[in-house]
Amino acid sequence: MLINNLILYWKPGIEIVILWFLIYQIMLFFEGTRALQALRGIIILLLAFLIFKKFDFSVLSWLFEKLFGISVIGILIIFHPEIRMGLAQIGKRQIFKNNLKDEDIALLSRQIADGCENLAKNRLGALIAIEKDDSLAAYIQSGEAVDSRVCADLIEAIFTPNNPLHDGGLIISHARIAAAGCIFPLAVNQELSRVFGTRHRAALGLSEESDAILIVVSEERHDISIVYQRKFYKDLGPVQLEAKIKELLRAKENE
Ligand code: ATP
Ligand code: MG
Repeated sequence: MLINNLILYWKPGIEIVILWFLIYQIMLFFEGTRALQALRGIIILLLAFLIFKKFDFSVLSWLFEKLFGISVIGILIIFHPEIRMGLAQIGKRQIFKNNLKDEDIALLSRQIADGCENLAKNRLGALIAIEKDDSLAAYIQSGEAVDSRVCADLIEAIFTPNNPLHDGGLIISHARIAAAGCIFPLAVNQELSRVFGTRHRAALGLSEESDAILIVVSEERHDISIVYQRKFYKDLGPVQLEAKIKELLRAKENE
């Protein structure tokens, strides 16, 4: 009898375990994002639908069936940032990597640190992204192409107000200033402290989507921060700033 029951129920039992595992993994994937709330709502709707169906509530189950058709479009809209991030992961590897020579690294960190120091002294804001292994081509296209050697004076000139390119981010790719006035993705993290305005959120946003090194000069607080792989290194002095850029440019992936 017991054996008969076991044979009868082992398949649904395994199905339940697998389903539970899948749902748990999806929840883990969305943990801490606003998509988790939407996902919870969808799961509650799904459960309600299954219960209505089971007990033959014909009108309600008809209504929920129609709602699910519409919710496919809803899911695409609600999960748009996550879908975009997922797809970006697939296509972001570069063919020609930024293999910087030691002298390039020394020059970049020196010029960027000098430019940022002067901007902070003059109470001006700036946002700079240095491309590493993940391509920033999509963001370069959002701005104005520059294609110039990296020098402190040009960085300062670009971020001086009234310059048409001072708004937005500057991108350095293959040891050259590739573009300025670029739009970066804003971090969606709701727990981010209120002191962070859009410039800092844009730096964090790009560091969530790529391995770029972001340098932010705050117009309000006149301090300089680096954001790398979602981590903030705040209030860096001139020597620390140059050393940190150098260190992060040398750092290999997953270090
Ligand atoms: P600050 O400390 O310099 O005031 P903040 O973090 O408080 O910076 P805001 O004061 O909102 O941010 O800074 C606004 C500037 O940030 C804009 O003028 C623009 O140059 C830049 N910025 C805002 N959003 C983006 C974005 N998505 N991509 C690139 N740059 C952006
Ligand atoms: Mg501000």
